[in-house]
Amino acid sequence: MAPLVPPATLGRLVTYLRVLTELGAAGTERVSSDELGERAGTSAFQVRKDLATCGRFGTRGSGYSVATLDRELRRVLGLTREWPVAIVGMGRLGQALADYPNFGEFDFVLRGAFDVDPEKVGMAAGSLVVRHLRELPAAVRDEGIQMAFLTVPASAAQDAADELVAAGVRGILNFAPSVIHVSDGVRVEGVDFLGGLQRLSFALGGQLTLASRQVDPMA
Ligand code: NAD
Repeated sequence: MAPLVPPATLGRLVTYLRVLTELGAAGTERVSSDELGERAGTSAFQVRKDLATCGRFGTRGSGYSVATLDRELRRVLGLTREWPVAIVGMGRLGQALADYPNFGEFDFVLRGAFDVDPEKVGMAAGSLVVRHLRELPAAVRDEGIQMAFLTVPASAAQDAADELVAAGVRGILNFAPSVIHVSDGVRVEGVDFLGGLQRLSFALGGQLTLASRQVDPMA
């Protein structure tokens, strides 16, 4: 497994790569840390600091080659190979993900869609056909699936995650609003829409002082 990079740094590296991909598509050949920072919503100092953790890419005064930095960041982020991905849970969210057209931009390829509901098995999901979850281990083995979207109800998330891990999946993007536990060597990333709204509600109208005064520590 890759070394741990602080989540905030990793998030910015992903943003820099998205900016570089846009710049490359627009034919831009060089970018300064000022411009990269501005487009990524951070400072030039932060850009230089983050990139210094990955290697030496820039030349003082002339910025970065967009193509070189794009290539190096893809290498750092493990995006130099195809990643076959499965979706487990083919309800509303699973179907929406199966229909998303742009995974290929970073060589993520949807290879399997799985559910336990017999009514869903056999249905079309984007370019895939939904299979029963019991077919997951064979699909992981035969199709090299290492990552999965987990889009099942919260109550089913741990069981489905256990099945994914047992089948050999090493990375899970969990959309269910529940904490799942996995063995060492397996990485879980959570996508928490409602948590995001709650953080926004705190930012827009939170009342930390008032709330803390109202909390009875003995309660
Ligand atoms: P859904 O009820 O439409 O679909 C869930 C699917 O999971 C169903 O097809 C069900 O048969 C399947 N399933 C249940 N147990 C399973 C198992 N063990 N293995 C495989 N498949 C299983 O739900 P949804 O709206 O698509 O949401 C999915 C998850 O994402 C939920 O946890 C939900 O809270 C979360 N979420 C959804 C949204 C959204 O916009 N739909 C937003 C935020 C969070």
